[in-house]
Parts: sequence; structure tokens; C-alpha cells
Amino acid sequence: MTQTPRPDPLAGALILLIEDDTQIRRFLRTTLTSIGYRLLEATSGQDGLRQVSVQHPDLIILDLGLPDIDGLEVTEQLRLWTSTPIIVLSARDKEGDKVKALDLGADDYLTKPFGTEELLARLRVTLRHVQQVQRVETPVFTFDNVCVDLEHRRVHVAEVEVHLTPIEYKLLITLIRFAGKVVTQRQLLKEICGPTYEKETHYLRIYMGQLRHKLEADPAQPRFLITEPGVGYRLKVDE
Ligand code: CA
Repeated sequence: MTQTPRPDPLAGALILLIEDDTQIRRFLRTTLTSIGYRLLEATSGQDGLRQVSVQHPDLIILDLGLPDIDGLEVTEQLRLWTSTPIIVLSARDKEGDKVKALDLGADDYLTKPFGTEELLARLRVTLRHVQQVQRVETPVFTFDNVCVDLEHRRVHVAEVEVHLTPIEYKLLITLIRFAGKVVTQRQLLKEICGPTYEKETHYLRIYMGQLRHKLEADPAQPRFLITEPGVGYRLKVDE
């Protein structure tokens, strides 16, 4: 199946790709430049770190398996001084690493091999998120048939008010803050219960189940409160 990528409203953004694999670099170069992104390339962690400080990219695509320093360490070093969004590329046999990368401050991940549409969707969400954070926060957030009034802390589903417990509401607004992006179990637990509960993932499953029950038409087949297996959750929003 061949699909022509759609023109992208965020075209022109400067992306730094830190990846030692020649084939993946070629694939990303062709894909990203054809729709108007500008691309810089680094083939090692050190070169990547140097280019971030010199070129100030809008977004970083970071492979976790690099020849010199580990992608996790690159993430950690970058987060000491910059909030430039990072999308990590992880190999399927290193699933644990992407969770570590997210906990260290990476914004999202793609598991190799990934498709063009998936890649472009992640880029759009991540770049748009930066723009939204820079804008004034809107007091009302809507997705699917859910409407959340952040100012008055009221939630409506199909125009019927739904009562959430304080924890359910915190869980929901944390997902809204990261709308479209994955949030790890650890990040969510830290936000809703505090740092002492970071490992209590079974609580999270319970709260998420309750939230789905109140917001989703079919809690067993959620449309927007999406599980990312082994990683965390994502609030799916319209692109
Ligand atoms: Ca690699």
C-alpha cells in the first residue's frame, strides 16, 4: 500500500535526527524533507548533543541504540538544559528502554519498524503540543463527546454532567495536559497520588477503569482513553 503523505501545516520545522542506522536515516530523510520539514542528521550521541546546542532544532528524533553513548543518557543530558521535544526510536527487543526514556523526559516514542503515517502523526502531535503550551490555556477542553470545563472543574459527556472523584479528575486533567501524547504509569501516579506511589500501578488500572466507565460509551473498547501496553496511557484527540 502506498499513500502520499498529506501536506503538513507544521512544515518548515527543523528536526534533528540522531540515528546511526543508514537505512533508517535515508527513509526519514526522504519522508520528512518531501513534506517540507528541514532535517539535520547526527550519527552519534555526542554529535547529536553538540548539534542541539548549536542548531536549536524544533524537535529531536533520537535512536536509543547509538554507537557511543546510550540514547537514554542523551535524553538525560538534554533534559538538564532544554525542553526541546524528543521522540525516541526503540527496538522491539528493548521495550523497557522506551519507558525509561519517557520517564527521563522524552515526549513520545516509535517502535521500529514504524510506518510513515504513524511517524508523521507523532510529529504533528508533538510539535503542536509545543505550540499549545506556548498559547494561553483555554478553560474548556473538548474531545469526542466529552467537554471538560477546567475553570469550574465540571465534566460533561454528551451534554450530561458526570461526577468524577478528585483522583479521577486529576487523572483526566493530567492526560489532557499531555493530550495526544503517551504518559507513563509512573508519571501519572506521581501526578495523581504523589511520588511515594510511583510503583503502585494496580491503583492506576483501577482509576483508569473507573474513568473509562464514566466517560467511554464502551469501557471495554475505549475510543479515547487508550492503553499503551507496558508503557502507560494516551488521551487520543482529533488531529
Ligand atoms: Ca541504532
